[in-house]
Amino acid sequence: MNMEKFQQSMYELIVETSTKLPKDVRRAIARAKARENAGTRAAMALATIAGNIKMAEENVSPICQDTGLPTFKIKVPVGANQIKMKEAIHAAIVQATKEGKLRPNSVDSLTGKNSGDNLGVGVPVIKFEQWENDYIDVRLILKGGGCENKNIQYSLPCELEGLGRAGRDLDGIRKCILHAVYQAQGQGCSAGFIGVGIGGDRASGYELAKDQLFRSVDDVNPNEDLRRLEEYIMENANKLGIGTMGFGGESTLLGCKIGVMHRIPASFFVSVAYNCWAFRRLGVKIDPETGEITEWLYQEGEDVDFEKELEKAKTAATAELGEVREIVLEPPITEEQIRQLKVGDVVRINGVIYTGRDAIHKYLMDHDSPVDLNGQIIYHCGPVMLKDENGNWQVKAAGPTTSIREEPYQGDIIKKFGVRAVIGKGGMGAKTLQALKEHGGVYLNAIGGAAQYYADCIKSVEGVDLLEFGIPEAMWHLRVENFTAVVTMDAHGNSLHEDVEKSSLEKLAQFKEPVFK
Ligand code: SF4
Repeated sequence: MNMEKFQQSMYELIVETSTKLPKDVRRAIARAKARENAGTRAAMALATIAGNIKMAEENVSPICQDTGLPTFKIKVPVGANQIKMKEAIHAAIVQATKEGKLRPNSVDSLTGKNSGDNLGVGVPVIKFEQWENDYIDVRLILKGGGCENKNIQYSLPCELEGLGRAGRDLDGIRKCILHAVYQAQGQGCSAGFIGVGIGGDRASGYELAKDQLFRSVDDVNPNEDLRRLEEYIMENANKLGIGTMGFGGESTLLGCKIGVMHRIPASFFVSVAYNCWAFRRLGVKIDPETGEITEWLYQEGEDVDFEKELEKAKTAATAELGEVREIVLEPPITEEQIRQLKVGDVVRINGVIYTGRDAIHKYLMDHDSPVDLNGQIIYHCGPVMLKDENGNWQVKAAGPTTSIREEPYQGDIIKKFGVRAVIGKGGMGAKTLQALKEHGGVYLNAIGGAAQYYADCIKSVEGVDLLEFGIPEAMWHLRVENFTAVVTMDAHGNSLHEDVEKSSLEKLAQFKEPVFK
């Protein structure tokens, strides 16, 4: 095979996967948008998501800043040189990272050091399988950490919160899947897609679950029992009211695909792979002689163009908001201003904000801050940054990261440095809520995955500190305009996340009685 051509084909597959969502996924998002009532936070979030999809496509930039763990599934005719193919994929990954199409995302598990090029031990994941066909089939998924962390595995029989006993039968599986959607809440950037693997062992069960994510959203399961179960889940999971980003609403789940394999008598695993709305998976057919792409996969059916949403996202994402209160914040912010904010308010930020995620939070616990954070805003974000030809930093993607990881530190940091607001996604816990109340602070939920929308709000990079932690972990000083987010935890002890979790648990209980006998 012409390996140079194959490398180019893999580069094209990586760029297309990272920057353009497939048609079946767009249709699912459009359906969710149509279900959501206008004037709600969920509708505003979905409009921002739709606009972001269009922006990523137009800018040929990452849909979400979290590249995730690139995973390739490749089927090859007998005789294909898998060693050379692997080398070509590695080279294509390095090139795409260098050009800002992927964020450097591979870190040494023990030292935390970022390899800088998305390569590492076991990264990317490349799995080969031989087959009798005369072409190569390559599929790629970029699944981010926020949703990967919400994967869950059940060992039946078990007791489930809200649902009681889940037995070793189809009804027990039904309960596990509903529970999996409930436990994810908005933290995996809902509305999401789930792949379910029934059977196998702990490792092969998860692999089967992930494999389901390579199915088209619109296909029909050939197994009659699983078809019924998939349809049941799609109909009922959306009744949990978790909604987009966990803001509450009609659209929580966009797709459910279930696969089954044998197991040993002593084990009965149900494994669930959760994928966010930024469902970046694509595939190509490759000619084994020339290395060229002969066909792009997942192209069937109608396409959805989010052109209209692009305008809304660029100008005023909050135009969808109807009666919801909208407030402008300009740091430094006073305690008085913060105490006026309430859960549900939409804020637009103008001024400088500071990024900080895991490494920065750990660092700030025992060191001084490189900048004065009094009255300031911390943004939980690991952006994709590139230097232009003049040596200036350019923001390529900058959506929020999952905030709950900072829960052990956040409350202390708010009090120690006088921080007034924290932006992230998915919400935070009781310790942070208490600190917000005592000190006078708010938690602002940005739209997870809307990396292009937020990159567009960043008007300049004013500086960077602690770059030695790597690009995603450094403290970037970003000047923003019209940066939109929702107050989901306020200084009065209220948390939208707690409220939605509580009400969805109550709704979950309506599914306790057996359905599949
Ligand atoms: S959309 Fe959310 S969960 Fe998905 S990759 Fe981006 S940040 Fe992670």
